[in-house]
Amino acid sequence: MEQEKKYCLCCNEWLMTGRIDRKFCGDACRNGYHNDEFRNRNNLMRNIVNSLKRNRRALIVLAEKQTATIAELAALGFVQDYFTHVSKCEEDTVFYCFDMGYKFVEGLSVHIVSASPSGVKAV
Ligand SMILES: [Zn+2]
Repeated sequence: MEQEKKYCLCCNEWLMTGRIDRKFCGDACRNGYHNDEFRNRNNLMRNIVNSLKRNRRALIVLAEKQTATIAELAALGFVQDYFTHVSKCEEDTVFYCFDMGYKFVEGLSVHIVSASPSGVKAV
């Protein structure tokens, strides 16, 4: 039975010898491949955390007004796709970025709230 030719996952070199489940030509390629995977995963998480922090800062900046539009938040770098958790209380749905949250009041306007240990209160 002829085996299928296998190639290194890192450098694409033909793996002529070694175990049948061999994936890399050597330690350098194996380490490099896993380091790249780890770096890519970390970059993705770092970008999401940075977006969440930016969203929180935008909410803090506009919290004094209590009500803001999504456009005003977006001008401060707010990205609606990112939030840490959602709290539903009766008919209100509050989207949080850590301790700062917002709920839609009408159209694209939001009411900004801050979470405290005793619950949610308006800022
Ligand atoms: Zn290789």
